[in-house]
Formats: sequence, structure tokens, C-alpha cells
Amino acid sequence: MYDVVIIGGGPGGYAAALYAHNFGLSVALVEKDRVGGTCLVRGCIPTKSWLRTAEIYQTVANSETFGVESSDPKLDWQAALARKNTIVDGLVNGLSGLLETRGVEVIDGFGRIVDGEVEVTTDDGASRALEAKHIIVATGSVPGTIPGYDIDGEWIVTSDEALDWVDQPARVAVIGAGAIGVEFASLLADVGSEVQLFEMEDQILPGMEPEAAKALTRALKRKGVTVRTSTAVEPAEITGSTVSVPFGEDSVTVDVVLVAVGRQPVTSGIGLEDAGVTVENSFVVADETTMQTSNPRIYAIGDIVAGTAQLAHVGFAEGIAAITHIATGVNDAINYRAIPMVVYSHPEVASVGLTEAEATAQGYEVETTNHGMRALARPIIHDETGGTVKIVAEKDGPVLGATVVDPLAGEIIHELMYVVGWEAMPAEAAAFIHAHPTVSEAIGETLMASAGRPLH
Ligand SMILES: Cc1cc2nc3c(=O)[nH]c(=O)nc-3n(C[C@H](O)[C@H](O)[C@H](O)COP(=O)(O)OP(=O)(O)OC[C@H]3O[C@@H](n4cnc5c(N)ncnc54)[C@H](O)[C@@H]3O)c2cc1C
Repeated sequence: MYDVVIIGGGPGGYAAALYAHNFGLSVALVEKDRVGGTCLVRGCIPTKSWLRTAEIYQTVANSETFGVESSDPKLDWQAALARKNTIVDGLVNGLSGLLETRGVEVIDGFGRIVDGEVEVTTDDGASRALEAKHIIVATGSVPGTIPGYDIDGEWIVTSDEALDWVDQPARVAVIGAGAIGVEFASLLADVGSEVQLFEMEDQILPGMEPEAAKALTRALKRKGVTVRTSTAVEPAEITGSTVSVPFGEDSVTVDVVLVAVGRQPVTSGIGLEDAGVTVENSFVVADETTMQTSNPRIYAIGDIVAGTAQLAHVGFAEGIAAITHIATGVNDAINYRAIPMVVYSHPEVASVGLTEAEATAQGYEVETTNHGMRALARPIIHDETGGTVKIVAEKDGPVLGATVVDPLAGEIIHELMYVVGWEAMPAEAAAFIHAHPTVSEAIGETLMASAGRPLH
């Protein structure tokens, strides 16, 4: 009998498995594919490898701005793909080794809950039952699609297939301008593909600050991306050698369509309902502090959980919370208020806490402060002055949220994570001195302005 059997070896499942060693728990981790899950194999990591290739390409292409002569860069797509695969394989192997070192028994196969145990079926059809005191379900998510866009892997693809394209597509329509859609639009345009980006909502990055969406839209347009918001696409027409994407009275013809319209939780066919676990709209309902489901012996973490963000680091935190509760009975509450979210386009968009719209909807009287990067030394030196910082504070109260746009936004957002997490007043946070010249100074300047005493 294991203390814990975990179904799914993505960030949620593997974090739970690794963390369990702190309490001496015996753990089996059931994974039907490769440990690392979506994030390592077909998500966070491979996209960032491609984005880095795109960034290097652009750095070389623009080197003369910095007084460095170079010949026109040539992209070796296959070499970039091979590098991506090497990075993924290295991290998956490293994780496998770490799980082994921590004494986690990794079991290949498909797991489902049957009569309170976890039944594992392997590819050859053999099955075995694992007895468990506690079960953690961490089966993650898969790409969704929309009517008229059946995924065929060739003409109509999702991020799963796009990450392994063996050749660079010349013309791509990206449907959906959330984080995944804009990351692909950004990287493909940066390496010279023609990109048409479609979004049904009235801004790209729906739900994020409109100022950030505007700044990124400007940057994408400068790269040559055609950005269409408030545009619903009609079913695609595959003609044989191209795909037509109709919208309104118009249409565009491309070589491939990349559908990035959100991700569906993997919660059917794994025995959840029979085990008394409440599932609503395909998501598992779980207590947000303990991660227990309606069956207290069964926990749910990661992308399958209703109402929490589908992010790898949220999965890590929920895995840690579930193990802590199993081992100690303590509710190690997750601070969901201060979880950074990063879009790794060029430039990056990073946010933490509430947007202005969210804070207002929650009844706060808010004050917002925006600060551009145009006059700041380091962004000028970097030739990256299109960024911006926005701080949302409660009137006469603490900072509630913040958004940064800059190529380094995903790194520098973390100081605002502490500001939001510790509910600092703008003046308290502004009292700290930022190094000069840095991009982070933009945050210092915005905090000073938010505290009512701007410097520049
Ligand atoms: C293109 C892309 C880019 C992304 N970039 C980022 C990013 O930069 N930062 C970020 O935070 N997040 C990013 N994400 C989201 C991130 O990948 C997910 O939030 C994260 O992987 C969710 O972790 P998880 O453990 O819940 O599930 P998953 O990572 O989906 O893992 C679930 C695992 O369970 C296994 N499984 C499913 N069912 C069974 C079963 N019945 N039996 C056995 N095994 C099973 C699957 O094979 C899989 O390995 C990205 C996602 C995509 C698609």
C-alpha cells in the first residue's frame, strides 16, 4: 500500500511526487507518456526554446543598430528543432533521475480509479491495481479547438504539432490570441513567417490590461503580424495545397492554421464520478487550500482544477499543498493573489494580482499609474523602449496588481509579486532604491508616481 498514488506526471504530479520525500511518504507516479507532462514535453519548455531561437535571429538581424556588422542571418530550422529536442530530452531525463533519487516509483501506463484503487493499464493491455491511502489526480489538459477546425496535424494543427514542424511554414493563421497564440505569432514573425493573428475578443491577451495588449499589438504589427481582434473565423476550407480562413465577407489563404483557443482538462474515463469526485464543466472541484475533492481521500491539482490558472507553477504549488495536507493535515494555503503570469512573446507581458477591471469588479476604488520605458536609460541602450508598467492600487491602500511589458518583464515582475503578496502600500515599496541603469527602475518610478511623488 502506497501512501500516495499520483495519476499524471506533469508539473502538478511530479512536484507532488518530489515534495513527498520531505515527509517520508511512499509514492507511485503513474504516467502514460513521458514524465514532465505538457510543460516539459509540449508546452513551456519547447516554446521558450523556439522563442530564444527567434530572439537570437532578431538580435543578429538588428546587430548594426549596435555597431556590430554581420551578414544576414539564415535560420537552420532543423538545427533549432534539434536544439529544442535536446533541451526537452535533457530536462525529462534529469527529472526521471531526480524522481528515482527521491525514491518515487514511476509506473508506465494509463491510470484510472477503480473501487478506490488505481488501476494501471499498460500498452500491451496488462493491468495491475495499486493500493493507496491517498490518490492525487494530475491528468492535466489537452488543446481544445472550435467548430470547423478539426485537428488533422497537417493543415490544421495545435501547439502540440507546431512545436515539431520539420520545416518553417511560410504563411500561418493563428486562431486565438491568448498566451500560446501570441507566443507563436511573435516567434514565427520574428523568424520571417507571414502571420495572421485572429482574436474574437476586442483585444489580444483577453483578460490582461488593455495598455499591455496595446503595447504588444504595436510590437507584433511592427514584426509584420496582421492582428485582427473582434473577429470570429468561419470554418476553414482546405483546398489541397493551402487553407482558407474565412471571416465576415473576407478570407485569408495560408499554408497552415494553428488553433490556440484554450485547453481542455483531461477528466473523463478515469473513474472520477464513480469515486464520488465532483466534476463541473469537465473541471474537478477541489478545495483551494487542501486540494481535496468531494472524496476527501482523492486530491486534484494542476490544469484539471476548476477556477485556478492553468500554469505550471500553479500546478507545483497545488502539488505541494496537497502533499502537505496529506502528510501533516495542515492547510498550507496557496497565495493565489500573487501568482505571476508571463507571456513570453517579444516583448514579454507579465502580470501579477488584479487588473484594473478585476479590482473594480471586486468593489475596490482603485488608482492606476502607468509609466512608459521611452525615457529610461537601459531600455534605450537595449533599443527596447516600447514597454510599459501599470500599477493598480486601492485608493489610499495597498498595491493590488501590476503589469509589465518589456523583453525582461518575465524576470522583473517578481519584485511586484512580493509587493502584491505582502500587500505593500505604494509608498512602502517605493522607498526601496533600484539600481541605475536597469529596466527595473521603471517599476521604481511607477511606484513613486503611484505614491504621489514621481521623480522623472
Ligand atoms: C504551448 C504551451 C506553452 C505553455 N507555456 C507555459 C509557460 O510558459 N508557463 C506556464 O506556467 N505554463 C505554460 N503552459 C501551461 C503548462 O504546460 C500547464 O499549465 C502544465 O503543464 C499543467 O500541469 P499539469 O501537471 O496539471 O498537467 P500536464 O502537464 O498536462 O500533465 C499531465 C500528465 O498526465 C498524463 N496523464 C493524463 N491522463 C493520464 C492517465 N489516465 N494515466 C496516466 N497518465 C495520464 C499526461 O500524459 C501528462 O503527462 C503552456 C502550455 C502549452 C500548451
